[in-house]
Amino acid sequence: MTDAIILSARDLTKEFKGFFAVDGVDLNVRQGTIHALIGPNGAGKTTCFNLLTKFLSPTRGTITYKGTDITALSPADIARMGLVRSFQISAVFPNLTALENVRIALQRQRGDSYDFWRSERVLGGFDARAAELLGEVGLSEFAGVHAGELSYGRKRALEIATTLALDPEMLLLDEPMAGMSHEDVDRISALIKRVAANRTVLMVEHNLSVVSSLSDTITVLARGRVLAEGDYATVSKDPDVVEAYIGA
Ligand code: ADP
Repeated sequence: MTDAIILSARDLTKEFKGFFAVDGVDLNVRQGTIHALIGPNGAGKTTCFNLLTKFLSPTRGTITYKGTDITALSPADIARMGLVRSFQISAVFPNLTALENVRIALQRQRGDSYDFWRSERVLGGFDARAAELLGEVGLSEFAGVHAGELSYGRKRALEIATTLALDPEMLLLDEPMAGMSHEDVDRISALIKRVAANRTVLMVEHNLSVVSSLSDTITVLARGRVLAEGDYATVSKDPDVVEAYIGA
């Protein structure tokens, strides 16, 4: 972990017909950390996520990634710079195996071409890397299983593997634990820690306790604004945060 800021937002604002879904948000994500953006329903998390990943344009404010102003760039541009959101490529293809899903993501990343399909040597290279990525997300033993047959938690892990195929330096995850059992939450938490060993992770999550053991920094949003920021011990005791969650 360093003190270098990899991603920052200044005065990030999104207005929908007079309603400010995100309202003057400042955010600093330090390189090599796991940073969680949390808040009750309607806090503006998804809008913020879509602004940071350029799926929405801000009404006001700037976003800087590795010292470059990315406010006007497209999602594809920033993905090429190493800032990748989960599920950017596609969801998982259920009729293909786990390995084939990751291989396709790798082929897309490399700019799939006729030659790539023809060359056994190149395909073999993709398979080796795909197997490596499956190992990274703990799915080695499921390489030959159709994605549609995987449990929900393992499907999410596979989606993370397809995202890693884009070789991100920073990963943005949208509610990676949504709809998961306790066991899956533990598994995905361990996976995110592993993935973050040599990358930066920003994740949006509804549930404060789910991110407690995982995050270096937590930013709490409520009504489009930053309510509190700090580690779990700090924000979980903040009276404004407690009230926002109880009042939500
Ligand atoms: P969260 O992800 O924290 O639940 P959202 O970012 O989805 O919050 O939404 C924040 C607020 O902005 C909500 O009140 C929502 O109704 C509103 N909102 C989100 N998207 C739009 C939109 N496209 N048009 C109008 N209002 C929107």
